[in-house]
Amino acid sequence: MLLIIFSRSFLEKNTLLNFFKPQIMLKIKETKQCPKCESSWIGEDMFTVFKKQKENESPYWKHKSDEEIQKIIKESYSPPYYFKREIGIELAWDHPKHYDGVSYWKCPDCETYFDRFDNMKETSFNEVFNCEKST
Ligand SMILES: [Zn+2]
Repeated sequence: MLLIIFSRSFLEKNTLLNFFKPQIMLKIKETKQCPKCESSWIGEDMFTVFKKQKENESPYWKHKSDEEIQKIIKESYSPPYYFKREIGIELAWDHPKHYDGVSYWKCPDCETYFDRFDNMKETSFNEVFNCEKST
């Protein structure tokens, strides 16, 4: 038996192998507004937020120029460079429906939960966490 191990960087660069790499297609509907109350889930743009942090003497930003801040944003994030307001819920690793990423979204305004993998179907706290909400 021959075992060939490729490094991740080799696999990422090799388009032929990428072609045969199994692709998992999940039905995901992303949205920029709450499907229920229709409030916007688009937050402030990153540059504005980081500029405010700089003005508030953030140790990370306070000695950086505007150009350096914009360069860091472009190197670290993807366009369109704004924060999102919805709350992503990732289930714990030992949860029966665990997924390595966000499974549910929660609206920050109406607090409704939505199933990311079921066409943003409305759901409840109990369905998400499989337990009663403590008060
Ligand atoms: Zn809402």
